[in-house]
Amino acid sequence: MNNKKLFAFCLFLSSVFFACAQESDVERSKKTEVWSPAPKMVTPAKKPGAPPSDAIILFNGKNLDQWVSKNDTTKSAQWIVDKDVLTVKKGTGNICTKQNFMDYQLHIEWRIPKNITGSSQARGNSGVFLGAWGNGEHGYEVQVLDSYKNETYVNGQAGSIYKQSIPSSNPTLPPGEWNVYDIAWTAPRFNDDGSLKSPGMVTVFFNGVLVQNNVIVKGETKWIGEPAYQKHGAMPIMLQDHGDPSPAISFRNIWIRPL
Ligand code: MG
Repeated sequence: MNNKKLFAFCLFLSSVFFACAQESDVERSKKTEVWSPAPKMVTPAKKPGAPPSDAIILFNGKNLDQWVSKNDTTKSAQWIVDKDVLTVKKGTGNICTKQNFMDYQLHIEWRIPKNITGSSQARGNSGVFLGAWGNGEHGYEVQVLDSYKNETYVNGQAGSIYKQSIPSSNPTLPPGEWNVYDIAWTAPRFNDDGSLKSPGMVTVFFNGVLVQNNVIVKGETKWIGEPAYQKHGAMPIMLQDHGDPSPAISFRNIWIRPL
């Protein structure tokens, strides 16, 4: 082989080599592509805060068909429904969903009345319990409270995981205006012997502001003492009828997407 031919042959070999190398990169890239199963199609809402197509409507403004009394789940919820708004009927007790849930995305709006009175924890207190069981208030509470201009312990203000996690900011609107919680909840898991397998985790957007970011829940919300876990499965969501004498607060537009 003369030099010219040798050169041409080497050129051919190297172009084949580069072609193969390129193809091989494409082939290698395909190894990390996942094509199925495809996520299901969901139609997002056109209006901010409105439910996407796959949401379960927990309160549609018309009735409390999705709710029961927490103290006696055979009884209907007694709170007041009027003009798309649900208002706590003080003294009738907490209400909870008929349906049980594990992991979910929850949207709920709440309003402190303009004529609110009281101070600290006795000023528009309610709560969204992400899972609740038994009589009384066993569960995991995201606090609802007038925290616009109302000093209280900061791990008990609006947006807190009550007595466990202080919200990173305070975007509370003045009494009379609607506040919005968008919550992502991963329920705790338990071993057969009742011990904790993985803790609950919660993320809270409060009026569009991230105030709890993937927070590990330490156990059941306690007013007195340290939080602790006890084994449970899927649980209803509960709204709190707090015993303080301040005017009752309201909720609206409640929907959930089980995950
Ligand atoms: Mg509360």
